[in-house]
Amino acid sequence: MKTDWLIVGAGFTGSVLAERIASQLGQKVLVVESRNHIGGNAYDYHDEHGILVHRYGPHIFHTNDEGIWSYLSRFTRWRPYYHRVLAMVDGHAVPVPFNFNSIAALFPPERARQLERLLLERFDYGSKTPILQLREAEDPALRELADFIYDKVFLGYTVKQWEMKPEELAPSVTARIPFHLSRDDRYFQDRYQGLPQEGYTRLFERLLDHPNIRLMLNTDYHDVVEEIEFERMIYTGPVDVFFDFIHGELPYRSLRFEMQHHAVEQYQSVAQMNYPNEYPWTRISEFKHLTGQSAPGTTVAVEYPQPFVRGKNDPYYPIPCEANAQLFRRYQKEIDDVAPKILFAGRLADYRYYNMDQAVGRALALFRRISEGR
Ligand code: FAD
Ligand code: UDP
Repeated sequence: MKTDWLIVGAGFTGSVLAERIASQLGQKVLVVESRNHIGGNAYDYHDEHGILVHRYGPHIFHTNDEGIWSYLSRFTRWRPYYHRVLAMVDGHAVPVPFNFNSIAALFPPERARQLERLLLERFDYGSKTPILQLREAEDPALRELADFIYDKVFLGYTVKQWEMKPEELAPSVTARIPFHLSRDDRYFQDRYQGLPQEGYTRLFERLLDHPNIRLMLNTDYHDVVEEIEFERMIYTGPVDVFFDFIHGELPYRSLRFEMQHHAVEQYQSVAQMNYPNEYPWTRISEFKHLTGQSAPGTTVAVEYPQPFVRGKNDPYYPIPCEANAQLFRRYQKEIDDVAPKILFAGRLADYRYYNMDQAVGRALALFRRISEGR
């Protein structure tokens, strides 16, 4: 079989690159995907109760990048949606990321007002401060508040999710959920937020719907690579697998999703409830909040973090910390050696904790390099 490009993986990275190369360069692309569906971890489908669910956990699209938003908007219309998350803290459901409303929900009014005043003396209204930074505040009352949030919201959740303490991970991980000096309860403040109106899978079908693109599902590239004659290749799977682990295994975290259907209209008041402390799961997500679907029953996903065991579960999260960044740099040398015949991009190939918009941005940037002959 002959093709100009072999692309491994039909997630955001592989599908966007396939679409760009097919439509802009007029070249033939063969996409091979080991799973039985397109969409990578953003894949959604209707479960046996007719509820649109995300197989690999809740996916909310958000970006500040107008270029990324308008590119994807060619393939979908959007349902406007602002994500809201409550965390169970000492029996109270409080907004996260922590903000003034969270303080008001947990402390007596007098104390809440005092903390708010102290925070505003130190930081600007509307600003965001990572919890690890807030713990270093000079004011003892702010440090006490930071320690409280660290203990009640971050420590238990992070140890469950990563089997590491917040300070053992790259600071960027917990900085995703900074203290927000405001009363804005939204999980993200990005300019563009929403879900594809007809679901992610439909968006991927449109991305891949081009006469120059051929798709093979249920196909691991190892099993077909010898039979395919290609000019160039883009690989979006795990980088350590590609190079046969010559520098050792890159660590990942996995998850187990327990899908539960309930014969009630609504299971919880918001799309996502976090359980930092009391239970073995980290969060419960109710899909109808995300999709706006109306149905008499509802389906939720309960997330149990798991060690990644090769062949048994999926490598969902690269683990961001200095030792792993160092290990990845050794693989980067291998990547440089096989370029430009073989290119690497995506959450697994770059070993980076990308959100969807970052994966799309990475793919578009790589395409620019390809089309400029770099
Ligand atoms: P992937 O989606 O992982 O796609 C890679 C594809 O390559 C997979 O389909 C895989 O099967 C295939 N593949 C791998 N190896 C081979 C092989 N040897 N042969 C053939 N195919 C292969 N981002 C957000 O912006 N918002 C969110 O709310 C959000 N929630 C998330 C929740 C969870 C639980 C997880 C795990 C991630 C979440 N993300 C979210 C991140 C988002 O899933 C990623 O940014 C995105 O999926 C990255 O796309 P990708 O194409 O790089 O990788
Ligand atoms: N986090 C936490 N408590 C929370 C929410 C997040 O400790 O209630 C930490 C945890 O380490 C988590 C990280 O912040 O892995 C990033 O959270 P995010 O919600 O962005 O995780 P994702 O949706 O990518 O799994």
